[in-house]
Amino acid sequence: MTKSRGSLIVLSGFAGVGKGTVLKSLFETKEGYAYSVSATTRDPRPGEVDGVHYFFVTKERFEEMIAKEELLEHACYVGNYYGTPKAYVDKKLEEGFDVILEIEVQGALAIKEKVPEAVLIYMLPPSAEALKDRLTGRGTETEEVIMKRLKRACEEAKGAEQYDYIIVNDDADECALELNTLIRAQRLRAKSNLPFIRKIRNDLKHITEEGE
Ligand code: 5GP
Repeated sequence: MTKSRGSLIVLSGFAGVGKGTVLKSLFETKEGYAYSVSATTRDPRPGEVDGVHYFFVTKERFEEMIAKEELLEHACYVGNYYGTPKAYVDKKLEEGFDVILEIEVQGALAIKEKVPEAVLIYMLPPSAEALKDRLTGRGTETEEVIMKRLKRACEEAKGAEQYDYIIVNDDADECALELNTLIRAQRLRAKSNLPFIRKIRNDLKHITEEGE
């Protein structure tokens, strides 16, 4: 089948819901995905690498990126800027990769406005208690930051209805399988295969014209 442009997949979910683990499982077993590395003004957590987990930039540089329209979307989250660099996403979509943006709700809804064919997926924990346990267990944030994030989660839950799909992360591998199935289904959408449809139509035309 003629390779068509990839799908833009937006994945959101509360901090601590396990998006990172699910995506790791998805990327380990499946091909054809590209992960968009965001820019942020927040400080790196232990173990985070610049250019891998995020592009860690100053507030000044981030504001320059906004001014130069280098970002597909950006948002402020718990006092820091986060944004999606546009050039990488465009290039990978053009090459036929399904590009995953792991971003929060404001950014996701901004993407939906700009790119209506983007697929918005919201990941939920099996329960509110499970979310709090996971955040506390991670041990990378202070109690104050955890409370801030849980409050923010309450607010964000309001945006989940506007997403296209909900997936529940009880088991990361199972959730990754479900996510993969969902994304593969997007590849089968008629709208994702317009070049292929056109090619078949043209080839049929040629064949029938030759036979006349
Ligand atoms: P964290 O600081 O825990 O890495 O991320 C905080 C939140 O920012 C998460 O919900 C994450 O998905 C979101 N985020 C990460 N990158 C981006 C981005 O480029 N744009 C937006 N809007 N949100 C992002």
